[in-house]
Amino acid sequence: MTGGERMEWCAAILWKVTNRRMSRTDRLASSLIRTRKHTLLITLTFLGTGTSTGIPVIGCDCDVCHSPDPRDNRLRASVLVQVDGSNLLFDTSPDMREQMLRVDLCSIDAVLYTHAHADHTAGIDELRRYNIMQEMRIPVWATIATGEDLATRFGYAFAKAFPFFGGKPDLDLNIVSGPFQVNGIDIMPIPIQHGTLPIVGYRIGRFAYLTDAKSIPASSLEMLRGLDTLVITALRKSEHPAHMSLGEALAAIEVIQPRRAFLSHLGHEMGRHATVASELPAHVRIATDRLVVEIP
Ligand SMILES: [Zn+2]
Ligand SMILES: [Zn+2]
Ligand SMILES: [Zn+2]
Repeated sequence: MTGGERMEWCAAILWKVTNRRMSRTDRLASSLIRTRKHTLLITLTFLGTGTSTGIPVIGCDCDVCHSPDPRDNRLRASVLVQVDGSNLLFDTSPDMREQMLRVDLCSIDAVLYTHAHADHTAGIDELRRYNIMQEMRIPVWATIATGEDLATRFGYAFAKAFPFFGGKPDLDLNIVSGPFQVNGIDIMPIPIQHGTLPIVGYRIGRFAYLTDAKSIPASSLEMLRGLDTLVITALRKSEHPAHMSLGEALAAIEVIQPRRAFLSHLGHEMGRHATVASELPAHVRIATDRLVVEIP
């Protein structure tokens, strides 16, 4: 894309964002029609598929960290979910700047936080670039506990101190306490346990994203019926107190029964992509950075 073409593309997206703000009623109406017809088309882009260290791990001599296979390079976990022209970013990883440059994303409609750990939040300052491009505050969604943590650590991002965009992130915090909508898109928070920490995954249509899960309560399993695509944590083959192992993730997939599942949030201890991928059932794949999948 040339510089001129890119500017035109960004301008078209900004026009769409402005227009979208002006036609909320129309959007809600079209969302109801969409729900009736079940025509939600979701594009899922894996921005990062690594655990908190990323892969390669700094200073590590292991076989995975020195793999020549690009699939063994993993930025910190985050996904972009595009639904009917809306861009939903799940978490702001420490690698967010590089991730946004890779996908050349010009607008973000909302950020959905799963929890406040640094590998899911530390890129929050990169959102200020979107304040500049979109000339608006960016809505973010988080549970009360995650929201309090964000407000404590990044209080400046939620303050309305500056009369212009760009000096800092300008974010509006929305508290997740049950199902909610962004641009008329129905979003269902899924309570899960990250070891002893209660966090959330999210379901949109027939897609669910469960990062950093160690266990899934029975009431949440009920919310995961009829999935086309499930993304779930699988840290490594051996057990960990706060993350599912490969065996635990496969067992959860067996219970949830999605049409297909992608494993993410991998640590280098898991082994090389090519080796582990060859050991999996046909409907389970290891996610890789930059992988794009369509979900009907
Ligand atoms: Zn390593
Ligand atoms: Zn975590
Ligand atoms: Zn994590």
